[in-house]
Amino acid sequence: MIIGGGTAGWMTAAAISRLLAGKVSITLVESEQIGIVGVGEATLPHIRAFNQKLGIDEAEFMRTTQATFKLGIEFRNWGQIGESYIHPFGTFGDDVEGVGFHHYLNRAGRIHELQQFSVPVIASRQARFQRPADDPQSLLSTFGYAYQFDATRYAPYLRSRAEKSGVTRIEGRILEVSRDTESGHVTSLRLENDDVIHGDLFIDCSGFRSLLLGDAMAEPFEDWSAWLPCDRAVAMPCEHHGPLLPYTSATAMLSGWRWRIPLQHRTGNGYVYSSKFTDDERATQDLIAALEGKALAEPRILRFKAGRRRRSWVGNVVGIGLAGGFLEPLESTSIYLIQQAITALLELFPDGSLSEVERCEFNRIVNLEYDRVRDFLILHYHATQRNDSEFWNYVRTMPIPASLEEKITLFKQRGRVMQYREGAFLEPSWIAVYLGQGIVPQFYDQRADGPDAATLTNAIDGLRNELQATVNTMPDQRDYLTMIGGVA
Ligand SMILES: Cc1cc2nc3c(=O)[nH]c(=O)nc-3n(C[C@H](O)[C@H](O)[C@H](O)COP(=O)(O)OP(=O)(O)OC[C@H]3O[C@@H](n4cnc5c(N)ncnc54)[C@H](O)[C@@H]3O)c2cc1C
Repeated sequence: MIIGGGTAGWMTAAAISRLLAGKVSITLVESEQIGIVGVGEATLPHIRAFNQKLGIDEAEFMRTTQATFKLGIEFRNWGQIGESYIHPFGTFGDDVEGVGFHHYLNRAGRIHELQQFSVPVIASRQARFQRPADDPQSLLSTFGYAYQFDATRYAPYLRSRAEKSGVTRIEGRILEVSRDTESGHVTSLRLENDDVIHGDLFIDCSGFRSLLLGDAMAEPFEDWSAWLPCDRAVAMPCEHHGPLLPYTSATAMLSGWRWRIPLQHRTGNGYVYSSKFTDDERATQDLIAALEGKALAEPRILRFKAGRRRRSWVGNVVGIGLAGGFLEPLESTSIYLIQQAITALLELFPDGSLSEVERCEFNRIVNLEYDRVRDFLILHYHATQRNDSEFWNYVRTMPIPASLEEKITLFKQRGRVMQYREGAFLEPSWIAVYLGQGIVPQFYDQRADGPDAATLTNAIDGLRNELQATVNTMPDQRDYLTMIGGVA
């Protein structure tokens, strides 16, 4: 049983109905009257694997959701006002014999040029796009990509696929949740029309309400707002003009930051802010002043709190999506976290009875993913030299988790990124943000001392020219979309 028909609910329904076809019977309950959160337009490259597993045709998906390609996220005014860098979905330069390219740049005293050594950064700046090449020798194989899409169209698209795969949808508002007095497991749900529906496993995708995991099971919420103080957003789409940019922008504001997500038919905009440092009216005015085209809707205020439920799987209830936790959209991670939870659930899907071992492993994976994303987000706020508002003074000087403190020190001193075996954001992502926000390593890996100075300079200059020449062969994103049949 799935509760909720937002992005989380229909992603879960579409994945389970296809990948466990014939093994389970799925019912999804949703209430049109309550509706969905309806934001969530920027994604990470992992979504491609999800769509592929579902057998989704990319061009059809792009037409249906008015999607554009995304090569990374541009951060403006984060380290200091006037600065800009891109966190690309791809590598920087070429590692030589296992030594990261940024160590060579650092040795050459040119680490500030890092952004010039990435295909997706250069292509983003020129609004160019093409799918990566398969040939590992080609510079065009050094990047990945994600999508920017209309959040109100993805869930219905998945719904039509899920219903074809046998998912039963029930329209109605859930008023009551019944639990077994001995096991504490959820047994049934009572709807507004008094219908009672029963199930074995309940997947709570009810959004911020967290109807089953939070309310019925009373699983505590770990509040991370001391580190991530933004708790509101005002969203407002506007008309789209100019080139179709293959990246999302995150521009730092006085009390938070503003997103700009270019879609085929409009630009998504929003200001994510902390209600401790500004108010709804002021934030709305600041967003309206920054719009790059005519507004297409009234401003819409959303409220949230950063954090997650202590456990996402409790008894026979699994929380996925906003019902399980929320991390602000600075690095477009919510849909990624949904996808990771679905993957873990599929891998551990109960075969008959429920066991503690599955729950523990699921909760370990989900918590690890959340904690890693949390540290990465905090880095963006904390690594700043801005002192022009109370908000920036707070985040610059706030205590940060020990796990992040350790990572920053390691990079500051040795230029080394702590490696993960699981979780999002690999070495290039951390390097992009560290350097983009002014954390420059004191020392480089001594193995980068191999080549003599002239050879190193020639190699660096040669690579930069080659990267630029390669990007010059890439088409404009709009032309590419037309060519593949992706235009709505
Ligand atoms: C400001 C903002 C910006 C965001 N931007 C991004 C982004 O760029 N990228 C990204 O990946 N994510 C982003 N997100 C997160 C993203 O929007 C969500 O992760 C995603 O939409 C999933 O939401 P959901 O399905 O969990 O909840 P919802 O969309 O809220 O769906 C909840 C469902 O539960 C149903 N429901 C609730 N109560 C009941 C009831 N009593 N009876 C019956 N049904 C009920 C509702 O009808 C609805 O169908 C953003 C979020 C916010 C707040």
